[in-house]
Amino acid sequence: PVRETVLEIRGLTSHYGRIQALHGIDLDVKQGQLVALVGANGAGKTTLLRTISGVQPASGGVVRFKGEDITRLAPEKRVRAGICQVPEGRQVFGPMSIEDNLRLGAYFRRDREIEQDLERMYGIFPILKEKRALPAGTLSGGQQQMLAMARALMGRPKLLLLDEPSMGLAPLLVEEIFRVIRSLKAEGITIFLVEQNAHAALAIADIGYVIETGHTILSGPGPELLHDEQVKKAYLGM
Ligand code: ATP
Repeated sequence: PVRETVLEIRGLTSHYGRIQALHGIDLDVKQGQLVALVGANGAGKTTLLRTISGVQPASGGVVRFKGEDITRLAPEKRVRAGICQVPEGRQVFGPMSIEDNLRLGAYFRRDREIEQDLERMYGIFPILKEKRALPAGTLSGGQQQMLAMARALMGRPKLLLLDEPSMGLAPLLVEEIFRVIRSLKAEGITIFLVEQNAHAALAIADIGYVIETGHTILSGPGPELLHDEQVKKAYLGM
């Protein structure tokens, strides 16, 4: 079966004043795929993600979501259309309970299945169930990352954008986060993952892209990129 293209980026450029951060990016994410973007510090990963969520303007090119041109669409309209970003550095509401944080993720929804989704999240993230009545601020960094992901999922996103979810986490928690990302993919959620942890990201990605100074220099099936000599040298320390 031909999969629907959820995100289609063509010739995308973006500037900070006179500094050009993106130089004509082409990228596709199809329905149900996990697509990973890897690259060094300052390569343009965050900028690209922000042009997709709409908080950073494009200076040229086009971003299409389910066939519709959203290049100039306001960020909140993209959220309503189903594009949901889990920001780097989590940003959960510390004084609010974990469960209330999750309910907040369903803020835009008007259907009656919110309670079911809450239980579904507790199934994927048992630690959140155990601690659901506690203030979110009492969670560890890794647990807050999970809460931020679960909160995003409560909005039933059609495209989930993950910005460096493993950043600053201890190795065991990194493993746990990638296990969760794999299970989200198994549930059929379409995911665009930005990571500095190239090995872990490419290992689970259907398609990987390597970005350098605002150019995508390589793309292909994630596990194939893992064996690419250039990738091994530059990003995997081999
Ligand atoms: P990191 O992993 O460090 O977040 P990145 O791959 O996400 O890096 P970006 O943050 O997208 O890279 O940065 C891409 C380029 O744009 C870099 O050269 C950076 O210096 C520049 N840049 C980013 N933000 C700004 C800004 N607010 N003003 C000016 N230049 C910026």
